[in-house]
Amino acid sequence: IWADVLGYVRKNISEVEYHTWFAPVKNLGVQEGSLVLGVRNSFAQEWFRKHYLELLEDALRSLGAQNPQVTFQVLPAAQDALLLPTDPPPAPPIHTGRAPSTPLPENRKVLNPKYTFENFVVGPNNNLAHAAALAVAESPGKAYNPLFIYGDVGLGKTHLMHAVGHYMTERFPGKRIEYVSTESFTNDLINAIRDDKMTLFRNRYRSVDLLLVDDIQFLAGKERTQEEFFHTFNALYENHKQIILSSDRPPKDIQTLEGRLRSRFEWGLITDIQSPEFETRVAILKMNAEHNRINIPQEVLELIARQVTSNIRELEGALMRVVAFSSLNNVPFSRAVAAKALSNVFAPQEVKVEMMDVLRQVAVHYNMPAEVIRGAGRVREVVTARQVAQYLIRELTDHSLPEIGQFFGRDHSTVMHAISKVTEALGKDAELTGSVDTLRRRMQGLDDEEA
Ligand code: ADP
Ligand code: MG
Repeated sequence: IWADVLGYVRKNISEVEYHTWFAPVKNLGVQEGSLVLGVRNSFAQEWFRKHYLELLEDALRSLGAQNPQVTFQVLPAAQDALLLPTDPPPAPPIHTGRAPSTPLPENRKVLNPKYTFENFVVGPNNNLAHAAALAVAESPGKAYNPLFIYGDVGLGKTHLMHAVGHYMTERFPGKRIEYVSTESFTNDLINAIRDDKMTLFRNRYRSVDLLLVDDIQFLAGKERTQEEFFHTFNALYENHKQIILSSDRPPKDIQTLEGRLRSRFEWGLITDIQSPEFETRVAILKMNAEHNRINIPQEVLELIARQVTSNIRELEGALMRVVAFSSLNNVPFSRAVAAKALSNVFAPQEVKVEMMDVLRQVAVHYNMPAEVIRGAGRVREVVTARQVAQYLIRELTDHSLPEIGQFFGRDHSTVMHAISKVTEALGKDAELTGSVDTLRRRMQGLDDEEA
Protein backbone atom coordinates (compact mmCIF):
# COMPACT_ATOMS: atom_id res chain seq x y z
CA ILE A 1 0.00 0.00 0.00
CA TRP A 2 2.93 2.35 0.70
CA ALA A 3 4.00 2.00 -2.89
CA ASP A 4 0.49 3.02 -3.96
CA VAL A 5 0.56 5.98 -1.62
CA LEU A 6 3.88 7.06 -3.06
CA GLY A 7 2.53 6.60 -6.56
CA TYR A 8 -0.38 8.88 -5.75
CA VAL A 9 1.87 11.46 -4.13
CA ARG A 10 4.23 11.43 -7.03
CA LYS A 11 1.46 12.23 -9.46
CA ASN A 12 0.47 15.26 -7.45
CA ILE A 13 3.71 17.01 -6.73
CA SER A 14 6.79 17.86 -8.72
CA GLU A 15 9.66 15.46 -9.18
CA VAL A 16 11.98 17.74 -7.27
CA GLU A 17 9.63 17.99 -4.34
CA TYR A 18 9.09 14.26 -4.37
CA HIS A 19 12.77 13.48 -4.25
CA THR A 20 13.45 16.08 -1.61
CA TRP A 21 10.77 14.99 0.80
CA PHE A 22 9.38 11.60 0.00
CA ALA A 23 12.37 9.63 -1.12
CA PRO A 24 13.93 9.62 2.40
CA VAL A 25 10.67 8.75 4.20
CA LYS A 26 10.45 5.38 5.95
CA ASN A 27 7.16 3.58 6.23
CA LEU A 28 6.93 2.37 9.83
CA GLY A 29 3.66 0.56 9.33
CA VAL A 30 0.27 1.06 10.90
CA GLN A 31 -0.08 1.74 14.60
CA GLU A 32 -3.48 2.20 16.21
CA GLY A 33 -5.14 2.86 12.90
CA SER A 34 -2.64 5.43 11.79
CA LEU A 35 -0.01 5.16 9.13
CA VAL A 36 3.29 6.06 10.75
CA LEU A 37 6.01 7.59 8.66
CA GLY A 38 9.55 8.05 9.80
CA VAL A 39 11.22 11.32 8.90
CA ARG A 40 14.72 12.57 9.52
CA ASN A 41 14.33 15.39 11.98
CA SER A 42 11.87 17.70 13.61
CA PHE A 43 12.18 20.20 10.79
CA ALA A 44 11.03 17.56 8.34
CA GLN A 45 8.31 16.47 10.74
CA GLU A 46 6.97 19.98 10.97
CA TRP A 47 7.24 20.39 7.24
CA PHE A 48 5.28 17.22 6.54
CA ARG A 49 2.53 18.17 8.97
CA LYS A 50 2.17 21.54 7.35
CA HIS A 51 2.56 20.66 3.73
CA TYR A 52 1.81 17.03 3.07
CA LEU A 53 -0.64 15.74 5.63
CA GLU A 54 -3.66 16.42 3.45
CA LEU A 55 -2.05 14.98 0.38
CA LEU A 56 -1.21 11.76 2.23
CA GLU A 57 -4.71 11.50 3.61
CA ASP A 58 -6.08 12.00 0.11
CA ALA A 59 -3.78 9.27 -1.11
CA LEU A 60 -5.08 6.83 1.50
CA ARG A 61 -8.65 7.81 0.78
CA SER A 62 -8.08 7.17 -2.90
CA LEU A 63 -7.00 3.67 -1.89
CA GLY A 64 -10.23 3.10 -0.03
CA ALA A 65 -9.34 4.07 3.54
CA GLN A 66 -12.36 5.69 5.14
CA ASN A 67 -10.86 7.67 7.92
CA PRO A 68 -7.20 7.89 7.08
CA GLN A 69 -4.71 9.05 9.68
CA VAL A 70 -1.07 9.74 9.24
CA THR A 71 1.50 10.57 11.87
CA PHE A 72 5.15 11.49 11.50
CA GLN A 73 7.86 10.19 13.73
CA VAL A 74 11.38 11.48 13.87
CA LEU A 75 13.73 8.60 13.24
CA PRO A 76 16.66 8.24 15.60
CA ALA A 77 19.75 9.01 13.57
CA ALA A 78 21.13 5.47 13.88
CA GLN A 79 17.90 3.85 12.87
CA ASP A 80 17.69 6.14 9.93
CA ALA A 81 21.07 4.95 8.75
CA LEU A 82 20.21 1.36 9.49
CA LEU A 83 16.99 1.45 7.61
CA LEU A 84 18.34 3.13 4.56
CA PRO A 85 19.60 0.15 2.61
CA THR A 86 16.86 -2.26 3.61
CA ASP A 87 13.27 -2.45 2.53
CA PRO A 88 10.67 -0.81 4.71
CA PRO A 89 8.74 -3.26 6.90
CA PRO A 90 5.58 -4.46 5.19
CA ALA A 91 2.57 -2.55 6.37
CA PRO A 92 -0.49 -4.47 7.52
CA PRO A 93 -3.42 -3.60 5.30
CA ILE A 94 -5.29 -0.49 6.28
CA HIS A 95 -8.94 -1.08 6.98
CA THR A 96 -10.79 -0.49 3.79
CA GLY A 97 -14.46 -0.49 3.28
CA ARG A 98 -16.14 0.19 0.02
CA ALA A 99 -19.53 1.66 0.45
CA PRO A 100 -22.10 -0.46 -1.41
CA SER A 101 -23.11 1.35 -4.63
CA THR A 102 -22.62 5.00 -3.76
CA PRO A 103 -25.14 7.21 -5.55
CA LEU A 104 -22.69 9.61 -7.15
CA PRO A 105 -19.18 9.81 -5.86
CA GLU A 106 -18.67 13.13 -4.13
CA ASN A 107 -15.56 13.96 -6.03
CA ARG A 108 -16.06 17.65 -6.11
CA LYS A 109 -12.70 18.94 -5.27
CA VAL A 110 -12.53 21.78 -2.87
CA LEU A 111 -10.81 24.71 -4.45
CA ASN A 112 -7.20 24.96 -3.41
CA PRO A 113 -7.08 27.90 -0.96
CA LYS A 114 -3.67 28.87 -2.29
CA TYR A 115 -4.91 29.36 -5.83
CA THR A 116 -6.31 32.87 -5.61
CA PHE A 117 -5.91 35.97 -7.75
CA GLU A 118 -3.88 37.58 -4.96
CA ASN A 119 -1.36 34.77 -5.15
CA PHE A 120 -1.09 34.88 -8.91
CA VAL A 121 1.93 36.76 -10.20
CA VAL A 122 1.09 38.54 -13.43
CA GLY A 123 3.74 38.82 -16.11
CA PRO A 124 3.90 39.27 -19.87
CA ASN A 125 3.53 35.51 -20.21
CA ASN A 126 0.12 35.29 -18.58
CA ASN A 127 -1.39 38.78 -18.43
CA LEU A 128 -4.01 38.12 -21.10
CA ALA A 129 -5.21 34.92 -19.48
CA HIS A 130 -5.23 36.67 -16.12
CA ALA A 131 -7.24 39.62 -17.42
CA ALA A 132 -9.72 37.33 -19.12
CA ALA A 133 -10.15 35.23 -15.97
CA LEU A 134 -10.73 38.34 -13.91
CA ALA A 135 -13.26 39.70 -16.38
CA VAL A 136 -15.14 36.41 -16.29
CA ALA A 137 -15.05 36.33 -12.49
CA GLU A 138 -16.54 39.81 -12.35
CA SER A 139 -19.35 39.17 -14.78
CA PRO A 140 -19.82 35.43 -15.13
CA GLY A 141 -21.71 34.34 -18.22
CA LYS A 142 -21.42 37.79 -19.75
CA ALA A 143 -17.79 38.55 -20.53
CA TYR A 144 -16.43 35.59 -22.42
CA ASN A 145 -18.20 32.28 -22.63
CA PRO A 146 -16.61 29.84 -22.66
CA LEU A 147 -13.20 31.00 -21.54
CA PHE A 148 -10.63 28.60 -22.90
CA ILE A 149 -7.17 28.73 -21.30
CA TYR A 150 -4.37 26.67 -22.75
CA GLY A 151 -0.70 26.24 -22.02
CA ASP A 152 1.92 23.70 -21.02
CA VAL A 153 1.79 21.85 -17.75
CA GLY A 154 2.67 23.74 -14.59
CA LEU A 155 2.07 27.23 -15.92
CA GLY A 156 -0.94 28.18 -13.81
CA LYS A 157 -4.07 27.06 -15.66
CA THR A 158 -5.58 25.28 -12.68
CA HIS A 159 -4.51 28.14 -10.43
CA LEU A 160 -6.41 30.67 -12.56
CA MET A 161 -9.53 28.51 -12.72
CA HIS A 162 -9.60 28.11 -8.96
CA ALA A 163 -9.02 31.85 -8.60
CA VAL A 164 -12.21 32.52 -10.53
CA GLY A 165 -13.98 30.04 -8.27
CA HIS A 166 -12.74 31.77 -5.12
CA TYR A 167 -13.60 35.18 -6.45
CA MET A 168 -17.13 34.16 -7.32
CA THR A 169 -17.63 32.42 -3.99
CA GLU A 170 -16.81 35.68 -2.26
CA ARG A 171 -18.62 38.04 -4.55
CA PHE A 172 -21.69 35.95 -5.25
CA PRO A 173 -22.11 33.64 -2.25
CA GLY A 174 -25.21 31.85 -3.50
CA LYS A 175 -23.69 30.69 -6.79
CA ARG A 176 -22.99 27.05 -7.41
CA ILE A 177 -19.51 26.26 -8.57
CA GLU A 178 -18.28 22.96 -9.86
CA TYR A 179 -14.64 22.25 -10.53
CA VAL A 180 -13.90 18.96 -12.20
CA SER A 181 -11.04 17.42 -14.07
CA THR A 182 -11.93 15.89 -17.40
CA GLU A 183 -10.89 12.56 -15.91
CA SER A 184 -13.37 12.83 -13.05
CA PHE A 185 -16.07 13.97 -15.42
CA THR A 186 -15.46 10.87 -17.47
CA ASN A 187 -15.42 8.62 -14.42
CA ASP A 188 -18.60 10.16 -13.07
CA LEU A 189 -20.24 9.55 -16.37
CA ILE A 190 -19.13 5.93 -16.49
CA ASN A 191 -20.40 5.34 -12.96
CA ALA A 192 -23.65 7.10 -13.67
CA ILE A 193 -24.24 4.90 -16.68
CA ARG A 194 -23.35 1.78 -14.73
CA ASP A 195 -25.52 2.67 -11.76
CA ASP A 196 -28.37 3.97 -13.87
CA LYS A 197 -28.02 7.43 -12.38
CA MET A 198 -27.90 9.57 -15.48
CA THR A 199 -30.56 11.99 -14.23
CA LEU A 200 -28.51 12.68 -11.13
CA PHE A 201 -25.41 13.14 -13.22
CA ARG A 202 -27.10 15.60 -15.53
CA ASN A 203 -28.69 17.57 -12.72
CA ARG A 204 -25.40 17.89 -11.03
CA TYR A 205 -23.50 19.32 -13.96
CA ARG A 206 -26.28 21.30 -15.52
CA SER A 207 -27.41 23.16 -12.44
CA VAL A 208 -24.25 25.10 -11.72
CA ASP A 209 -23.45 28.75 -12.27
CA LEU A 210 -19.80 28.18 -12.96
CA LEU A 211 -18.39 25.02 -14.43
CA LEU A 212 -14.62 24.63 -14.44
CA VAL A 213 -13.36 21.71 -16.49
CA ASP A 214 -9.65 21.12 -16.27
CA ASP A 215 -7.46 19.44 -18.88
CA ILE A 216 -10.14 19.12 -21.50
CA GLN A 217 -7.61 17.64 -23.94
CA PHE A 218 -8.42 14.32 -22.27
CA LEU A 219 -11.78 14.36 -24.04
CA ALA A 220 -9.88 13.25 -27.11
CA GLY A 221 -11.10 9.90 -28.32
CA LYS A 222 -13.85 9.59 -25.69
CA GLU A 223 -16.96 9.71 -27.83
CA ARG A 224 -19.56 9.06 -25.18
CA THR A 225 -18.04 11.64 -22.84
CA GLN A 226 -17.85 14.16 -25.64
CA GLU A 227 -21.49 13.55 -26.43
CA GLU A 228 -22.51 14.08 -22.82
CA PHE A 229 -20.27 17.08 -22.41
CA PHE A 230 -21.77 18.59 -25.53
CA HIS A 231 -25.21 18.53 -23.91
CA THR A 232 -23.89 19.81 -20.60
CA PHE A 233 -22.20 22.64 -22.43
CA ASN A 234 -25.34 23.58 -24.34
CA ALA A 235 -27.53 23.51 -21.27
CA LEU A 236 -25.20 25.81 -19.38
CA TYR A 237 -24.50 28.07 -22.31
CA GLU A 238 -28.15 28.59 -23.11
CA ASN A 239 -28.76 29.59 -19.51
CA HIS A 240 -25.85 32.05 -19.58
CA LYS A 241 -23.87 30.07 -17.06
CA GLN A 242 -20.14 30.52 -17.15
CA ILE A 243 -17.90 27.77 -18.50
CA ILE A 244 -14.12 27.79 -18.20
CA LEU A 245 -12.03 25.14 -19.86
CA SER A 246 -8.32 24.44 -19.68
CA SER A 247 -6.17 22.39 -21.99
CA ASP A 248 -2.55 21.85 -22.85
CA ARG A 249 -3.26 22.94 -26.43
CA PRO A 250 -5.76 25.06 -28.39
CA PRO A 251 -9.04 23.41 -29.48
CA LYS A 252 -7.91 23.07 -33.08
CA ASP A 253 -5.00 20.87 -31.97
CA ILE A 254 -7.05 18.45 -29.89
CA GLN A 255 -7.18 15.34 -32.01
CA THR A 256 -10.44 13.45 -32.45
CA LEU A 257 -12.48 16.16 -30.87
CA GLU A 258 -15.91 16.37 -32.46
CA GLY A 259 -16.27 19.37 -34.72
CA ARG A 260 -19.34 20.65 -32.93
CA LEU A 261 -17.50 20.67 -29.60
CA ARG A 262 -14.44 22.27 -31.10
CA SER A 263 -16.46 25.07 -32.61
CA ARG A 264 -18.22 25.65 -29.29
CA PHE A 265 -14.88 25.89 -27.53
CA GLU A 266 -14.02 28.62 -29.99
CA TRP A 267 -17.19 30.61 -29.37
CA GLY A 268 -15.83 32.58 -26.47
CA LEU A 269 -12.28 33.62 -25.83
CA ILE A 270 -9.22 31.48 -26.30
CA THR A 271 -6.18 32.64 -24.38
CA ASP A 272 -2.84 31.07 -23.64
CA ILE A 273 -0.24 31.06 -20.91
CA GLN A 274 3.40 30.94 -21.91
CA SER A 275 6.48 30.06 -19.91
CA PRO A 276 7.33 32.85 -17.50
CA GLU A 277 10.22 35.20 -18.20
CA PHE A 278 13.09 35.43 -15.78
CA GLU A 279 11.65 38.41 -13.89
CA THR A 280 8.31 36.70 -13.46
CA ARG A 281 10.02 33.57 -12.20
CA VAL A 282 11.93 35.58 -9.62
CA ALA A 283 8.72 37.34 -8.56
CA ILE A 284 6.96 33.99 -8.13
CA LEU A 285 9.82 32.67 -6.02
CA LYS A 286 9.82 35.81 -3.93
CA MET A 287 6.12 35.53 -3.26
CA ASN A 288 6.51 31.91 -2.32
CA ALA A 289 9.35 32.65 0.06
CA GLU A 290 7.37 35.43 1.69
CA HIS A 291 4.35 33.21 2.10
CA ASN A 292 6.44 30.64 3.84
CA ARG A 293 8.13 33.37 5.89
CA ILE A 294 11.51 32.44 4.59
CA ASN A 295 14.08 35.13 4.10
CA ILE A 296 16.14 34.33 1.05
CA PRO A 297 18.58 36.73 -0.61
CA GLN A 298 17.58 37.97 -4.05
CA GLU A 299 20.68 36.49 -5.67
CA VAL A 300 19.72 33.03 -4.48
CA LEU A 301 16.23 33.43 -5.90
CA GLU A 302 17.80 34.52 -9.15
CA LEU A 303 20.01 31.49 -9.25
CA ILE A 304 17.01 29.22 -8.79
CA ALA A 305 15.07 31.14 -11.45
CA ARG A 306 17.90 30.58 -13.90
CA GLN A 307 17.99 26.85 -13.24
CA VAL A 308 14.30 26.18 -13.70
CA THR A 309 12.87 27.91 -16.70
CA SER A 310 9.71 26.33 -17.98
CA ASN A 311 7.50 24.92 -15.27
CA ILE A 312 6.31 26.84 -12.22
CA ARG A 313 5.56 23.74 -10.25
CA GLU A 314 9.16 22.66 -10.69
CA LEU A 315 10.30 26.16 -9.86
CA GLU A 316 8.50 25.97 -6.53
CA GLY A 317 9.91 22.51 -5.98
CA ALA A 318 13.41 23.81 -6.55
CA LEU A 319 12.89 26.56 -4.00
CA MET A 320 11.69 24.02 -1.50
CA ARG A 321 14.66 21.88 -2.17
CA VAL A 322 17.03 24.73 -1.48
CA VAL A 323 15.15 25.57 1.72
CA ALA A 324 15.23 21.97 2.82
CA PHE A 325 18.88 21.60 1.99
CA SER A 326 20.01 24.58 4.01
CA SER A 327 17.72 23.76 6.92
CA LEU A 328 18.74 20.15 7.09
CA ASN A 329 22.41 21.04 6.90
CA ASN A 330 21.99 24.08 9.06
CA VAL A 331 23.73 26.44 6.67
CA PRO A 332 22.52 29.89 5.60
CA PHE A 333 21.17 30.51 2.12
CA SER A 334 23.82 31.34 -0.42
CA ARG A 335 24.35 30.89 -4.10
CA ALA A 336 26.79 28.09 -3.45
CA VAL A 337 24.37 26.25 -1.19
CA ALA A 338 21.56 26.66 -3.70
CA ALA A 339 23.71 25.44 -6.55
CA LYS A 340 24.68 22.41 -4.49
CA ALA A 341 21.09 21.69 -3.48
CA LEU A 342 19.97 21.72 -7.08
CA SER A 343 22.98 20.04 -8.60
CA ASN A 344 21.84 16.43 -8.59
CA VAL A 345 18.30 17.27 -9.57
CA PHE A 346 19.04 19.31 -12.59
CA ALA A 347 21.51 16.92 -14.05
CA PRO A 348 23.44 18.21 -17.04
CA GLN A 349 21.51 16.15 -19.56
CA GLU A 350 18.33 17.90 -18.46
CA VAL A 351 19.69 21.30 -19.28
CA LYS A 352 17.25 22.75 -21.71
CA VAL A 353 18.82 23.55 -25.03
CA GLU A 354 17.15 25.75 -27.55
CA MET A 355 17.72 25.93 -31.29
CA MET A 356 19.31 29.33 -30.98
CA ASP A 357 21.73 28.09 -28.29
CA VAL A 358 22.87 25.29 -30.54
CA LEU A 359 23.29 27.59 -33.48
CA ARG A 360 25.33 30.04 -31.39
CA GLN A 361 27.64 27.34 -30.11
CA VAL A 362 28.14 25.95 -33.58
CA ALA A 363 28.89 29.45 -34.83
CA VAL A 364 31.53 29.96 -32.14
CA HIS A 365 33.03 26.56 -32.80
CA TYR A 366 33.33 27.07 -36.56
CA ASN A 367 34.19 30.70 -36.11
CA MET A 368 31.56 32.11 -38.42
CA PRO A 369 28.50 34.29 -37.79
CA ALA A 370 25.27 32.46 -36.92
CA GLU A 371 23.46 34.28 -39.70
CA VAL A 372 25.91 32.93 -42.25
CA ILE A 373 25.18 29.40 -41.07
CA ARG A 374 21.48 30.08 -41.38
CA GLY A 375 21.92 31.78 -44.71
CA ALA A 376 22.03 30.44 -48.23
CA GLY A 377 25.82 30.10 -48.62
CA ARG A 378 27.07 26.92 -50.33
CA VAL A 379 30.73 27.15 -49.29
CA ARG A 380 31.82 23.77 -47.96
CA GLU A 381 32.70 24.94 -44.42
CA VAL A 382 29.39 26.74 -44.10
CA VAL A 383 27.46 23.72 -45.34
CA THR A 384 29.24 21.50 -42.82
CA ALA A 385 28.50 23.87 -39.94
CA ARG A 386 24.87 24.08 -41.03
CA GLN A 387 24.54 20.31 -41.19
CA VAL A 388 26.16 19.85 -37.79
CA ALA A 389 23.85 22.48 -36.32
CA GLN A 390 20.78 20.76 -37.72
CA TYR A 391 22.00 17.38 -36.54
CA LEU A 392 22.62 18.63 -33.00
CA ILE A 393 19.34 20.52 -32.80
CA ARG A 394 17.54 17.34 -33.74
CA GLU A 395 19.44 15.43 -31.08
CA LEU A 396 19.31 17.94 -28.26
CA THR A 397 15.92 19.57 -28.60
CA ASP A 398 12.37 18.37 -29.04
CA HIS A 399 11.86 20.18 -32.29
CA SER A 400 10.44 18.38 -35.30
CA LEU A 401 12.11 18.24 -38.70
CA PRO A 402 9.74 20.83 -40.20
CA GLU A 403 10.37 23.17 -37.26
CA ILE A 404 14.11 22.86 -37.66
CA GLY A 405 13.71 23.39 -41.38
CA GLN A 406 11.74 26.54 -40.78
CA PHE A 407 14.40 27.84 -38.41
CA PHE A 408 16.93 27.49 -41.22
CA GLY A 409 14.55 28.74 -43.89
CA ARG A 410 14.49 25.31 -45.51
CA ASP A 411 12.13 22.38 -45.69
CA HIS A 412 12.22 19.22 -43.64
CA SER A 413 13.81 17.07 -46.35
CA THR A 414 16.88 19.30 -46.30
CA VAL A 415 17.17 18.72 -42.56
CA MET A 416 16.74 14.99 -43.07
CA HIS A 417 19.50 15.07 -45.64
CA ALA A 418 21.78 17.00 -43.27
CA ILE A 419 21.17 14.51 -40.50
CA SER A 420 21.96 11.51 -42.64
CA LYS A 421 25.07 13.24 -43.97
CA VAL A 422 26.39 13.83 -40.47
CA THR A 423 25.34 10.37 -39.31
CA GLU A 424 27.27 8.82 -42.18
CA ALA A 425 30.36 10.86 -41.47
CA LEU A 426 30.40 10.14 -37.75
CA GLY A 427 33.18 7.74 -36.89
CA LYS A 428 34.73 8.13 -40.35
CA ASP A 429 35.52 11.79 -40.43
CA ALA A 430 37.62 12.41 -37.31
CA GLU A 431 37.38 16.17 -37.43
CA LEU A 432 33.61 16.22 -37.75
CA THR A 433 33.21 13.55 -35.09
CA GLY A 434 35.35 15.62 -32.74
CA SER A 435 33.34 18.75 -33.44
CA VAL A 436 30.03 17.04 -32.80
CA ASP A 437 31.29 15.52 -29.54
CA THR A 438 32.73 18.77 -28.26
CA LEU A 439 29.64 20.72 -29.11
CA ARG A 440 27.33 18.15 -27.58
CA ARG A 441 29.28 18.11 -24.33
CA ARG A 442 29.36 21.85 -24.20
CA MET A 443 25.64 22.15 -24.75
CA GLN A 444 24.83 19.56 -22.11
CA GLY A 445 26.89 21.51 -19.64
CA LEU A 446 29.33 18.63 -19.20
CA ASP A 447 32.10 20.90 -20.24
CA ASP A 448 33.00 23.20 -17.35
CA GLU A 449 35.18 25.41 -19.46
CA GLU A 450 32.23 26.77 -21.34
CA ALA A 451 29.82 27.01 -18.38
P1 ADP B 1 -1.26 23.88 -14.69
O1 ADP B 1 -2.68 23.66 -14.26
O2 ADP B 1 -1.14 24.82 -15.84
O3 ADP B 1 -0.52 22.61 -14.93
P2 ADP B 1 -0.99 24.89 -12.02
O4 ADP B 1 -2.11 25.86 -12.01
O5 ADP B 1 -1.21 23.61 -11.32
O6 ADP B 1 -0.49 24.62 -13.51
O7 ADP B 1 0.29 25.65 -11.45
C1 ADP B 1 1.43 24.95 -10.98
C2 ADP B 1 1.97 25.65 -9.75
O8 ADP B 1 2.51 26.90 -10.12
C3 ADP B 1 0.92 25.92 -8.71
O9 ADP B 1 1.47 25.74 -7.43
C4 ADP B 1 0.58 27.39 -8.91
O10 ADP B 1 0.16 28.00 -7.73
C5 ADP B 1 1.89 27.95 -9.38
N1 ADP B 1 1.72 29.08 -10.29
C6 ADP B 1 1.44 29.01 -11.61
N2 ADP B 1 1.37 30.23 -12.15
C7 ADP B 1 1.61 31.11 -11.14
C8 ADP B 1 1.68 32.54 -11.07
N3 ADP B 1 1.51 33.31 -12.15
N4 ADP B 1 1.95 33.09 -9.87
C9 ADP B 1 2.15 32.31 -8.79
N5 ADP B 1 2.10 30.97 -8.79
C10 ADP B 1 1.84 30.37 -9.95
MG1 MG C 1 -3.67 21.87 -14.08
